[in-house]
Amino acid sequence: MDENAGKRESDPDEALPSASAAESGASDFDDICGHLGDDYDRYLGAIVPPIFQNTLFTRKRSNQGYTYTRVTNPTIEIAERKLAAMEGGEAARCFSSGMAAISAALMSVMERDCHIVCPSRVYAPTRFFLESYMARFGVETTFVSGTDLDEFEAALRPQTRAIYLETPLSNLFTLQDLRAVAELARSRGAATIVDNTWATPLFQNPLAFGIDMVVHSATKYMGGHSDILAGVLIGSRERMERVTHEERGLFGAAMDPHQAWLLIRGLRTLPLRMERHQESALRIAAWLERHPAVERVLYPGLPSHPQHELARRQMSGFSGLLGFVPRGTREQAAAFVKALRLFEEGPSWGGFESLINSPGLDLDEEASRRTGMPQRLLRISVGLERADALLADLDRAFAEMRRA
Ligand SMILES: *Cc1c(COP(=O)(O)O)cnc(C)c1O
Repeated sequence: MDENAGKRESDPDEALPSASAAESGASDFDDICGHLGDDYDRYLGAIVPPIFQNTLFTRKRSNQGYTYTRVTNPTIEIAERKLAAMEGGEAARCFSSGMAAISAALMSVMERDCHIVCPSRVYAPTRFFLESYMARFGVETTFVSGTDLDEFEAALRPQTRAIYLETPLSNLFTLQDLRAVAELARSRGAATIVDNTWATPLFQNPLAFGIDMVVHSATKYMGGHSDILAGVLIGSRERMERVTHEERGLFGAAMDPHQAWLLIRGLRTLPLRMERHQESALRIAAWLERHPAVERVLYPGLPSHPQHELARRQMSGFSGLLGFVPRGTREQAAAFVKALRLFEEGPSWGGFESLINSPGLDLDEEASRRTGMPQRLLRISVGLERADALLADLDRAFAEMRRA
């Protein structure tokens, strides 16, 4: 397998954000997303490799090592080669969803009665998996804020098998320091796993900072069209080979070939889409920050973000998901959401369509304090529509909000 196509800038101090997406590695990403693994000679010159929509490769005639699609399949392999190269990893494994990849990554490092450290505001099902589900098997998790290295260090125990990260967090948009946490974990013999869904491999490559494994919900930007569920796990060849036979093989949350083919199609336009998401989101975030109806904006791309320096050190760009807190009452925040016309309401993100979500509106004050989730926090996923049209929609909804 040729998995060394991901050569690019890995010194984070030099990979500063720029208006055009991932300038330092743009041509590599174009090449990986557009062409890597699309072996024309092997597939009769087809400009798009076919979907191998079969479960079995007959033993009498298969001379390429393929046996059964849960183990691997040529279409899934093309997606995996692209994804490994994008993250600068040795190998990748696709799963039927992001949660399948996340649970597999964690299961691959956990053992009975072990201990995990994790930021408290990670993706809610991830938290539920650790806090409730794995607790049944004696696994204990210490939840930390994620913004303080001392807190990570204080949480470590001899039984700590992994530090699980998600940076930036997709609800509060705070960051964890990848290099510092990777060093700390390594010095204590714990593995590190990062959910890199927000930044995508175009804007952040955790493996370059010494992180052991990266997971993505490819349902979001990588698929990009709100039409597939998909997940991917990237890491060393050794870890990924073990995962093929253990977590993916035994729990069976393998990717379907058709899903892989749609993922490959999504990846072909990922660099182009991320450029547009970034450009529009930076503009909208700056506009919101100046708007009199807005209390504060949560977006690592803004110089006012408390961890903006760290963001520039470990990311080369910013995607299109951001939060803001409007002034006024909860009722006014709800009225704002209803008044929008271009932004549909819903919890997912990373697709072509702009979305808004209000994760705190149903919380009472006590729950809001306990979880650190502001009641009026609104989260928008900036889609591929023209930024001017999105700004006009937001502006009109603010005007209606004030009348509510
Ligand atoms: C959506 C999401 C997931 C889960 O992905 P699925 O494909 O829905 O299983 C994990 N992490 C983050 C940050 C997400 O937004």
